[in-house]
Amino acid sequence: MERGIVVILPIGSTEAHGPHLPLSTDVIISEEMSRRAAEKLTARGIETLVLPAIAYSVTDFSAAFPGTISIKKETAIAVIRDVCVSLYQQGAKLVAIANSHLEPEHVESINQAIDSVEQETGQRIVFPDKRKRRWAQMLTEEFRRGDCHAGSYESSLVIAARPSLVRDDIRESLDKVPISIADQIRQGARNFSEAGGVEAYFGDPAAASREEGDASYEVLSDMIVTAVVEALTKPSAASDKTQE
Ligand SMILES: [Zn+2]
Repeated sequence: MERGIVVILPIGSTEAHGPHLPLSTDVIISEEMSRRAAEKLTARGIETLVLPAIAYSVTDFSAAFPGTISIKKETAIAVIRDVCVSLYQQGAKLVAIANSHLEPEHVESINQAIDSVEQETGQRIVFPDKRKRRWAQMLTEEFRRGDCHAGSYESSLVIAARPSLVRDDIRESLDKVPISIADQIRQGARNFSEAGGVEAYFGDPAAASREEGDASYEVLSDMIVTAVVEALTKPSAASDKTQE
């Protein structure tokens, strides 16, 4: 790896996403938003590479569904930390994390890994959060409502990136599950079934389209580009972490 380069680390999960989307849905979304962000950054003269994705994360909410693979939080923290430390030891200018898996414990594992890297290397990591108002207001209504696991939002993103991996006949036949996972988590739900998602999906998968997916990628890639450009132009600012 060339020194002084920007690298984007896509982070997803291996997790049940209804009967119509692949287990790798979050990996596909993170990789595609990273790829589109890298294109935009490179076009602006900021040389950017995309790393192979981290595909295993804390995914306890869907652990009851076959195919979901959850790892321990300390394992997740260690993997992210070690990858980022290796990048900085090799002279990366900036590491940016593109994340699509929003389970609270998972996001917490990323934040803890970032703290650890910053302590160890003195280098910051950018981790923009699509749930922040600045970005969420440009994403779809379904995403903002919080019924955004394997619904129209995520189905559209997979259709726009890897259409052959979507079971369209099943997707088009699915009934809406208009339940906000975010609200359910706040009310104490510990898994998808308790939250009312008995088939591991929420929202409205049948409404998905390639156009919606491309529009969302536009926002998601801009989010990464903006975070990187801000970090490069304001190098002393605090990390753009989710909690802040
Ligand atoms: Zn997902």
